[in-house]
Amino acid sequence: MTLRQLLEEGREELEKAGVADWALDARYLLMAAFDLDLASLLVKQERQILPGDESEEKTRCYRQMIGRRAGRAPLQQILGEQEFMGLPFRVNEHVLTPRQDTETLVELVLRERPDPSQSVLDLCTGSGCIALSLARLGGYRRVWASDLSEEALKVAEENAKGLLKDPAESKADFRLLKSDLFEGIPKEERFDILTSNPPYIPTEVIEGLEPEVRDHEPRMALDGDEDGLKFYRILAAEAGGFLNPGGVIYLEIGWDQGAKVEELLRQAGFQEIRTVKDLAGKDRVVRAGWP
Ligand code: GLN
Repeated sequence: MTLRQLLEEGREELEKAGVADWALDARYLLMAAFDLDLASLLVKQERQILPGDESEEKTRCYRQMIGRRAGRAPLQQILGEQEFMGLPFRVNEHVLTPRQDTETLVELVLRERPDPSQSVLDLCTGSGCIALSLARLGGYRRVWASDLSEEALKVAEENAKGLLKDPAESKADFRLLKSDLFEGIPKEERFDILTSNPPYIPTEVIEGLEPEVRDHEPRMALDGDEDGLKFYRILAAEAGGFLNPGGVIYLEIGWDQGAKVEELLRQAGFQEIRTVKDLAGKDRVVRAGWP
């Protein structure tokens, strides 16, 4: 048996299971199981895998990963990692895998609010991808991030350890809090920047999503209730109480939610409200200023 034959075997299994990127995914899993980069894979792929050496264990691990992927577990959950804003984030089944769409939000904040003396509050932080990339790339003095899920907070904590300097050395105040939206945020705290990628998919729509998302990503990170807007109603109504004058809220939205979320923010007293598109040209972020 050679690596090339193993790869072929995995590709066939993934294609049969209806995995969209079956060829690429099989290659990523082979590289992960055998701890190879692409160049070494190309050099070694015709060599025989000899029984009795450590390759046997690696082969077993590869076949197990292919089995998980054929069961439609997301590639990132199997590899345990997803890159976001050029930074490596640990992920598992307790957090939404960071998406490129969400980079639109982080880039917008960095562009509009470059002053590192500002403070940030990120709600529904999940893996911590928004909060930690803002802390790393924006260097903000204070970044607090919260989530309702203890399991998600563990992932965010691990990511914070990997991506931020030793907290003892760092002067920045990065903090993770368990909170259902604003409920656990101390009432006297004020921030300059508020960010969130809340659950926003209408409950009924979830059943029609790809199995990777529908069956393997946390439902509580996706489900925005009947019309998908439940969390925006609360965010819009309560955000003003936690923002400094001149503060800005940045919310990720679904492609068809811009007008409705803008209206919720307008009713709550926000100004300079704008919807920003992602790289695919779809509405993705609403930003709004607190007077
Ligand atoms: N953008 C994600 C998706 O389409 C959903 C993210 C969310 O609900 N916050 O799967």
